[in-house]
Amino acid sequence: MATTERFFERLRIERGASFSLATFDPGDTCGVEISKKEAHTRLAEEWLTRLTQLQERLWAQDRWAILVILQGMDAAGKDGVIKHVMSGVNPQGCQVTSFKVPSAEELDHDFLWRTTRALPERGRIGIFNRSYYEEVLVVRVHPTALARQKLPPRLVGPDIWRQRFEDIAAFERYLTRNGTVVLKFFLHLSRQEQRRRFLERLETPEKRWKFALGDVVERRHWNDYMSAYEDMIRHTASAHAPWFVVPADHKWFARLVVAATLVTALESLELEFPVVDEAQGAELEEARRQLLAE
Ligand code: AMP
Ligand code: MG
Repeated sequence: MATTERFFERLRIERGASFSLATFDPGDTCGVEISKKEAHTRLAEEWLTRLTQLQERLWAQDRWAILVILQGMDAAGKDGVIKHVMSGVNPQGCQVTSFKVPSAEELDHDFLWRTTRALPERGRIGIFNRSYYEEVLVVRVHPTALARQKLPPRLVGPDIWRQRFEDIAAFERYLTRNGTVVLKFFLHLSRQEQRRRFLERLETPEKRWKFALGDVVERRHWNDYMSAYEDMIRHTASAHAPWFVVPADHKWFARLVVAATLVTALESLELEFPVVDEAQGAELEEARRQLLAE
């Protein structure tokens, strides 16, 4: 699978206006027909090796930052993507932040506050396991979550979701203009596959801890969530901060897509190790002479 083989190109959404989730199949593998085992080998030997090399340059160059946003329903595979795709990167150059139900302190601030504090520095890859997009997903599906946000009542009207989309899009534009590459992944799981994974969690002792009773309650709102996701992608997909609709029913495929997308995005930055100029070169040569003379 060479880089030129952009099997995942169709999954990249840059213009949301006519986006329809129904045209994406969670079970799709975009024509990649390999076994799970082969996928595992390719991920490790091909994509992760390149990711490791690219990340070293990103870190050495210290100019760009990469923000990876992972969204998806419970059991969509966000944790697995982080565990497998990031296994190839140096922990020093990578940070993962998971966003849960907001704390009292977080609710005392504007909705972008907690995520802004967790943005990656230059040279680093930052991963958001859920993000400010929850503000137009779970908060939209559950009006009680919005009520907890302590917003002045006159600011809360029917326009609030459109306003949040606008603010998010403006924020991402700002980030990209300042050297943060924003890559957004929606792990698109089917309702049947979620059921299967939940049952597996309940039936496997080592997986039971992952199951929360609330998860089956959220599942009842499936259609509301799908509408919210679709509207979110329609309003926040852009050329500078695209959404990737990742078919997530096959874990191996979702991981391959995220790894390949990340590698492709890093390659497009044409990262190079900083070059040593002549004066610095002379200084380094002098240091070398001194060490040899010891
Ligand atoms: P998990 O990812 O399984 O640990 O669950 C985290 C939970 O926090 C999910 O149910 C999210 O919907 C919820 N959550 C994340 N961000 C927000 C938010 N801004 N408002 C309300 N709930 C949130
Ligand atoms: Mg959960």
